[in-house]
Amino acid sequence: MTAIDVLRSRLGVATAGPPQRKIARPRTVALIDVHACTGCGLCVPECPAACIEPLASVPLDRTDAPPVQTRHDECLGCGLCVEICTHLAHVSAIRSYDTNLVEQALGCAIAADAPLARTSPEPGHEYWAEEGAFHHMGEGTRIPVADLSPEERTALAAGAR
Ligand code: SF4
Ligand code: SF4
Repeated sequence: MTAIDVLRSRLGVATAGPPQRKIARPRTVALIDVHACTGCGLCVPECPAACIEPLASVPLDRTDAPPVQTRHDECLGCGLCVEICTHLAHVSAIRSYDTNLVEQALGCAIAADAPLARTSPEPGHEYWAEEGAFHHMGEGTRIPVADLSPEERTALAAGAR
């Protein structure tokens, strides 16, 4: 059992496969605090919708790897990236936000199906970063370590690789 297996199992997320297109409007969508994200990349290949990507152009003063952001209109709301960032990257840069809130904040509609054309994600630090307007309304991890079995804790402690 790997650390990713533990998180997938706890969330009921299917094992890795081809990218999934959403078929229902999610209750929440994941958005990332680009100031907190270290650009470690751990969350990127694990997203079942393959909708997390490095920000090509970030108006931030940083010299390490570029932060990542979700293409929120493709997000399934599974929460796996939130747990990976918390338990494996030890950063907690990702939060789940109520879909209605995201629609109101961004003035968009989040549909039941993914858009046909990809749109580039925006940093959104004015909304989702720690100093942003909605950061405090996001939900962090749903998997407290205290709830895990000894075997699951050992797997998590071993890390992502
Ligand atoms: S796991 Fe967290 S810190 Fe790493 S790239 Fe994803 S959001 Fe950024
Ligand atoms: S919650 Fe995170 S891992 Fe799940 S589909 Fe959305 S961006 Fe991907």
